[in-house]
Amino acid sequence: MHECCGIFGVYAPGEDVARLTFFALFALQHRGQESAGIATTDGKKLQVYAKMGLVSQVFDEDSLSHLSGDIAIGHNRYSTRGSSREINAQPIIVGKGSNSIAIAHNGNIINAEHLHQELSDLGYTFRTSTDTEVLANLILSSPEKRWVDRIRYAMHRLQGAYSLTLMTNHSLFGVRDPFGVRPLCLGTIDGGWVIASESCALDHIGASFIREIEPGEIVSITENGIDSYQEEVGRRALCIFEYIYFARPDSVINGRLLYPARQAMGEGLAQEHSVDADLVMGVPDSATAAGIGYALKSGIPLGEGLIKNRYVGRTFIEPDQRIRDLGVKLKFNPLPQMLDGKRVVVVDDSIVRGTTTPQVVKLLKRAGAKEVHMRICAPPIRYPCFFGVDMATRWELIAAQKTIPEVRDFIGADSLGYLSIDGLIKAVALPKDIFCMACFTGDYPIPVQLEMDKLALETMPPPGHPGIKQQ
Ligand code: SF4
Repeated sequence: MHECCGIFGVYAPGEDVARLTFFALFALQHRGQESAGIATTDGKKLQVYAKMGLVSQVFDEDSLSHLSGDIAIGHNRYSTRGSSREINAQPIIVGKGSNSIAIAHNGNIINAEHLHQELSDLGYTFRTSTDTEVLANLILSSPEKRWVDRIRYAMHRLQGAYSLTLMTNHSLFGVRDPFGVRPLCLGTIDGGWVIASESCALDHIGASFIREIEPGEIVSITENGIDSYQEEVGRRALCIFEYIYFARPDSVINGRLLYPARQAMGEGLAQEHSVDADLVMGVPDSATAAGIGYALKSGIPLGEGLIKNRYVGRTFIEPDQRIRDLGVKLKFNPLPQMLDGKRVVVVDDSIVRGTTTPQVVKLLKRAGAKEVHMRICAPPIRYPCFFGVDMATRWELIAAQKTIPEVRDFIGADSLGYLSIDGLIKAVALPKDIFCMACFTGDYPIPVQLEMDKLALETMPPPGHPGIKQQ
């Protein structure tokens, strides 16, 4: 499962804003590894440098030195809408002269196709295949004069998830959709202001966290200071996967540090699904904290049974077939001395398609584990995500296809336990009604029926596929 993007913005006259943005993007690398980009303005025109690759591969001293100015925004991309090509790398600039904006987007616009058609009919042309360009042109198409009102105009038309950093030649904006699906926070640095997807980016550049940007809020930063505009909000729908997996464990969202929340998920699993075992391990790195929680609660010793190659997937060199066949072995190396003859509890963040977990179980058993008991922090994922998470279509989701005992047999584990929704909420320790949990419940916070019908038609199971069983 992949998140779509990390975004950042800084308004700090006199500072090297491109360098600050580089290091903030470096801290947000986990949110997207396909492309990276930075846009700046010198007060007269916007410029952008964005390419395919990791932040450290895209930028060097030379490219940063050309990105001068007092305001910058940055973006790490994992594509969910729009193909993975350099043309779709963000930030993107749209418009001309003083009527231009640079924009960086985390989320997914559900009615992008409809808006694209409407804007095309009005004569707007599109350079990329992203919903971000639709969003940007929608702002430009507003009849309003002030930028904040133009953004408001677009917010009234947009459906879906969007956290944005956006800049003009003289101002920086942070925008969060009324549901607050993706996180966004505000901080200060040496008299300037910063906006980031996660607070860990602020920590790494020496900025101080001020507060979250609220769902439906527009924060505007100009030479006159900072202003906030609040749009009407109804239901809130922060993606619960930020707590389970996406965000870094050292980030704070809604006042809750993620590390102890993940540890509490492990404790909840130990309570809900206890088992006699000799060793507990979290699948590194996303389930490390949850593994610790399970061990603490159950009293079963904690250990490491898999060592992760932390740089895997961070290369453009395609593996040949022989290397590809190694599958999960490219990512994890088991420790037979730790596993031999042991009954092992393995805590993982989630099971989506069920393609990786059987390989992990096999790897552990081949390395000598006598029993493997899988414990999963996320409840069964039975519905696809329409808000920017590249998950799968419904027929690809293993928990939409099979009962829990069938999933256990499919992955080859001796037992399988998912954390319940109540257990998850208890671990996160925040009110249930602020979250989106649609991929567990099918209760989407935004009407997605049309999109769902279309997706169902476009992605029918292949011939011979057993189809979706009703749970
Ligand atoms: S459907 Fe699931 S993955 Fe998507 S936003 Fe909601 S909780 Fe997050």
